[in-house]
Amino acid sequence: MPAMIMDGRAVAGRIKEEAAARAQRLAGAGIIPHLAVVLVGEDPASQVYVRNKENACRKAGIRSTVIRLPEDCGQDALVRTICELNADEGVHGILVQLPLPEDMDEQAILRLIDPDKDVDGFHPMNVGRLASGQSGFVPCTPLGVMRMLEAYDIAVEGKHAVVIGRSHIVGKPMAMLLLNESATVTVCHSKTKNLAEITRQADILVAAVGRAGFVTADMVKPGAVVVDVGINRVDGVLTGDVTPEAAQKAGYLTPVPGGVGQMTIAMLLHNTLDAAQRRGK
Ligand code: NAD
Repeated sequence: MPAMIMDGRAVAGRIKEEAAARAQRLAGAGIIPHLAVVLVGEDPASQVYVRNKENACRKAGIRSTVIRLPEDCGQDALVRTICELNADEGVHGILVQLPLPEDMDEQAILRLIDPDKDVDGFHPMNVGRLASGQSGFVPCTPLGVMRMLEAYDIAVEGKHAVVIGRSHIVGKPMAMLLLNESATVTVCHSKTKNLAEITRQADILVAAVGRAGFVTADMVKPGAVVVDVGINRVDGVLTGDVTPEAAQKAGYLTPVPGGVGQMTIAMLLHNTLDAAQRRGK
């Protein structure tokens, strides 16, 4: 039987509706949730991502401001912008769109963001909070994956979860979230040997590699939950890391597009509202 296709649009739609209701309640209490997005340079993909975030905020009743800096603005200008946003009481969430120009120190920039406004969850303080099981901001994509599993009543406890990819943005926080929910977690990466042997043991397989068709059907355990985080463009067509044939083997599968990507923005709204709510207290 082919896999159940997990509908990211529908699940994210419900979260966005909840977000809009929450934003309205906050507005009623005199708090207009406000996300500031800093975009350096003119990378076309980044511009699309930022526009999507602006649109989602607008629809949910969250104020968003995009601060655009030229590619050659220099790190000092970016530092000044972040310091201003940190100090601005009316700004609840700050997001620096990545990647930054090569001459900038990404980690140093992320460390500058006030951890309580760090709605992307990339600040070391929030990374530490996640690792130590404390509440903080969690990166939107892996958080969205957890919400998707929840929406389909997929229990995580005691399952063997295999995450392919160890980035700070997806792989590592994904592994940590699954571990915090009592999965047995294996993290695979570019130096992993016998990858397919490991992925075939996965009850839950998360692919976050960035290579179209990387996960083939023979790498999937029959009935497994397969979460495709990858976003790749092949001849202009958006595709994930998992081959379509895997749907014949998996029990559940997230599509690309229409899967995890939808969840990411929904979780950004959720994190921004959390930030606004905490400030309001
Ligand atoms: P990344 O390049 O930082 O990390 C890729 C990971 O894949 C690395 O940890 C690397 O070790 C691993 N890898 C590479 N080759 C491998 C191999 N042969 N075997 C096993 N592992 C291998 O990328 P990222 O930022 O983590 O993103 C991964 C993918 O997810 C990309 O396609 C990206 O576009 C997508 N993404 C999607 C969303 C979303 O909202 N859906 C958000 C963030 C990233």
